[in-house]
Amino acid sequence: MSIPRAYSVKAYAATSAKSPLAATTIGRREPTERDVKIDILYCGVCHSDLHFARNEWGFTQYPAVPGHEIVGRVTAIGSGVKKFKVGDLVGVGCLVDSCGTCPDCRAGLEQFCPEMVMTYGSADKHLGGGTLGGYAQGIVVTEEFVLRIPANLNAAAAAPLLCAGITTYSPLRHWKVGPGQKVGIVGLGGLGHMGLKFAHAFGAHVVLFTTSPGKAADAKRLGADEVVVSKDAAQMAAQAGSFDFILNTVAAAIDLNVYINLLKHDGNLVQVGAPSEPFAVAGFPLIMRRRSFSGSLIGGLPETQEMLDFCGAHAITSDVEMIRMDQINEAYERMLKSDVKYRFVIDMASLK
Ligand code: NAP
Ligand code: ZN
Repeated sequence: MSIPRAYSVKAYAATSAKSPLAATTIGRREPTERDVKIDILYCGVCHSDLHFARNEWGFTQYPAVPGHEIVGRVTAIGSGVKKFKVGDLVGVGCLVDSCGTCPDCRAGLEQFCPEMVMTYGSADKHLGGGTLGGYAQGIVVTEEFVLRIPANLNAAAAAPLLCAGITTYSPLRHWKVGPGQKVGIVGLGGLGHMGLKFAHAFGAHVVLFTTSPGKAADAKRLGADEVVVSKDAAQMAAQAGSFDFILNTVAAAIDLNVYINLLKHDGNLVQVGAPSEPFAVAGFPLIMRRRSFSGSLIGGLPETQEMLDFCGAHAITSDVEMIRMDQINEAYERMLKSDVKYRFVIDMASLK
């Protein structure tokens, strides 16, 4: 086997579940025939990055470099690349490869491919070890997993679309959320604020459930028609049995039964928040109204491009707070306190 050629980039990595992220140097492969070499400009900070860096899902290999909301500039392409040229503004989300031949890949649902390669935390077929994410100066990705960023969007504010955007767009589209429906979004963080924007853009009546009463005015500005403080039992009781669809974005194992009771008959509670702890779901509230409890994982490559193009057409981006790379540990602590408005984005120029 030939040894792949590699070059070095600066990055930020965790070396154990308990250690803060710190500066390091990592290897990236030199572009092969179908590869796109990207100079990373911005990377969004997803709560999944924190789950992964701290090994909350139990599969983290160290060193761990998180980051899967990547926007950057193409600096080189392999000889066989057709979709991109040097200078293009591009994005990379949660996936960097898949088998390309299974039924899911053929259907454009690469997120369900048994051999899908995540941007961080999967086996790296090229260099060995684990794949390393976007908290870095650069990345090399096969062209099928590189996305076009619409020219009218602010590049930094577009970065969170690559995960928070597609993770909320995909279930709202799959379950055909639209006019005449009452839709709940649980949690106003990175995913939740994109959920509000999309559900509003799709024409639904949108209700935000939050534990933070101070976020109510922002929620209305972001697309909510109503705001319910989920800790207030009377406000929750007033919503009983009235929802067609509820999307739960919370990163902790909250009581789902209270939300299932807010669904109409045939209503659906969709889980996208990914705490490691299991949920206790009572059977009777599902049975008695033919309600569903479902899950959803990011979205495939065609749908991610569709989402980006929809955002371009409707001027939708994320509301971001820019940080330097060396502020990442502080950003994680603020994320744990639900103190994010509404997505941190790292300015990668701060890593130079
Ligand atoms: P985030 O920015 O930290 O937002 C989560 C929000 O949930 C918080 O802002 C807070 O909103 C609410 N919240 C937090 N703790 C809570 C608690 N104990 N009880 C009730 N509400 C609480 O996180 P994110 O980046 O949006 O990610 C959310 C989750 O989605 C994470 O678990 C992440 O791993 C997962 N995720 C899943 C996918 C997928 O494909 N399924 C993709 C990306 C991320 P309020 O202040 O409004 O209550
Ligand atoms: Zn994410």
